[in-house]
Amino acid sequence: MFKNICVFCGSSFGTSPTYVQEVHNFAQTLVEKQINLVYGGGNNGLMGELARYVLERNGEVVGVIPKKIHENVQHLELTDLLIVDDMHQRKAKMYELADGFIALPGGIGTIEELAESLTWQQIGYHQKPIGILNPNGFYNKLLSLLEHMAQEGFLKADFLQNLIISDCPKELLRKMEQFKPVHLNKWHS
Ligand code: AMP
Repeated sequence: MFKNICVFCGSSFGTSPTYVQEVHNFAQTLVEKQINLVYGGGNNGLMGELARYVLERNGEVVGVIPKKIHENVQHLELTDLLIVDDMHQRKAKMYELADGFIALPGGIGTIEELAESLTWQQIGYHQKPIGILNPNGFYNKLLSLLEHMAQEGFLKADFLQNLIISDCPKELLRKMEQFKPVHLNKWHS
């Protein structure tokens, strides 16, 4: 069972109110399952909405934020806020704290964090589950690109089996809890 989940998601709200609704559904599942949230520490957009929702229902939220962002954004009263030197330290800290990683809809920052967690899994730095919550097929184009990379020989097709995808928070977390990594050697064909 998970104790801490690290979530990457947008610092914007997106254009459709559906995104906030999906974040609330996801946050409700975390609260019900008593899973602590580890996230980027900001109060903007979906990330702020997620943290607020969990805190208001007495869930635990740990933020990990680089100094530079901390100086420039407003903060929520989190269970704990860790201020680190830079983005690299932030991600290292998040990897240390979390039992798994989930991307919700977001932009470039979200993709960067998702891509790094996949890269680290691919080269064996961690074996923690990585999930994508895919409401209304938000990530379908990214998933097509990953399949294209595999077809074109830039990504081992088996590695994609490690990526857990669902549009339902409960199903996503259940699959992540049952995760057994496909062990691949990135360096040998
Ligand atoms: P984006 O998807 O481009 O909106 O970026 C969201 C991701 O980048 C989050 O998961 C955060 O880790 C990080 N991030 C972007 N903006 C902020 C902010 N204002 N405060 C804290 N973290 C942020």
